[in-house]
Amino acid sequence: MPADTYTKAEPELKQELKRIAEAIVAPGKGILAADESTGTIGKRLQSINCENTEDNRRAYRQLLFTTDKDVISQHISGVILYHETLYQKADDGTPFVELLRQRNIIPGIKVDLGVVPLFGTDDECTTQGLDNLQARCVQYKKDGCDFAKWRCVLKIGKDKPSKLAILENANVLARYASICQSARIVPIVEPEILPDGDHDLARCQQVTEEVLAAVYKALSDHNVYLEGTLLKPNMVTPGQSAPKATPQEIAAATVTALSRTVPPAVTGVTFLSGGQSEEEASVNLDAINKFPGKKPWALTFSYGRALQASTIRAWGGKPDQVAAGQAELIKRAKANSDAALGKYAGGVVGAAGDAGLFVANHAY
Ligand code: 13P
Repeated sequence: MPADTYTKAEPELKQELKRIAEAIVAPGKGILAADESTGTIGKRLQSINCENTEDNRRAYRQLLFTTDKDVISQHISGVILYHETLYQKADDGTPFVELLRQRNIIPGIKVDLGVVPLFGTDDECTTQGLDNLQARCVQYKKDGCDFAKWRCVLKIGKDKPSKLAILENANVLARYASICQSARIVPIVEPEILPDGDHDLARCQQVTEEVLAAVYKALSDHNVYLEGTLLKPNMVTPGQSAPKATPQEIAAATVTALSRTVPPAVTGVTFLSGGQSEEEASVNLDAINKFPGKKPWALTFSYGRALQASTIRAWGGKPDQVAAGQAELIKRAKANSDAALGKYAGGVVGAAGDAGLFVANHAY
């Protein structure tokens, strides 16, 4: 029996963490981020005129987790849950965690407690939730979770991100990652640089490199075992209100930024979709995998909005449209799975069309 907690990276702990991280980024597989907080899922439900009640949240997540076993298990290796969802059950009493296991999907859990302002900065933030984190991780592990997510947010603007925001967020991510590993949980390290603004591609690349360099310095200082971690970054794109770049330009800037800052020891990179449309997120991931540069890590998806927009629209909160919603989820999961292999032909457009999914100053 492994211990509940470790004080350093013993060989058996390393082995377990690496095995989990590798399973999540197995070829052609990626993550469904379904860890929207109650407020955020409420906004999604509101968009289909569905009330934000516990039972409606449960009904929607039940739709996601009862999708055809044989199909979804080929494309999705992990699901990130929100605390409430982890303990919910399907109509027939089957715990959601059990539904995921039946699909060979690893349950994960959002453990951060949201962003808070950084005093004295121009609207910058850090992320809270370190207090009691080890005890929460031990409990989540017992309850079936093998990985976790913690999201930090950085902003691009005049004099932003500040040195303080870069250092503070790198440090809090490293501290979170070390605590997760002490409790046998693989940390997904997410330093999201928001797309808000009119900056160009080069500026996003420069900031991404600066932020990731600080994150890996902090992870090293905190003795984090990199093979047992995953990185969840933004793709390098121009700001939301700047002219768009091509998928090939985005791929070149993204792979270059990662290759300059992310050690080859890191097992995988699972991109967030960050307000891209469903199709953009698939096409850009495909271009990243096709880009002919050094890529020593798996490059796959951990999408929230870009995996769910068509699904929730097709469902519309109607019990007789569950199958329609699930068909959309399968379409997107397959497209992203192909993209993670650099084999996506493009052109799979769902019920949400090619609508942008940008939300200003996005909270999760
Ligand atoms: P999006 O793919 O909607 O950006 O969200 C992914 C996520 O988990 C952000 O923390």
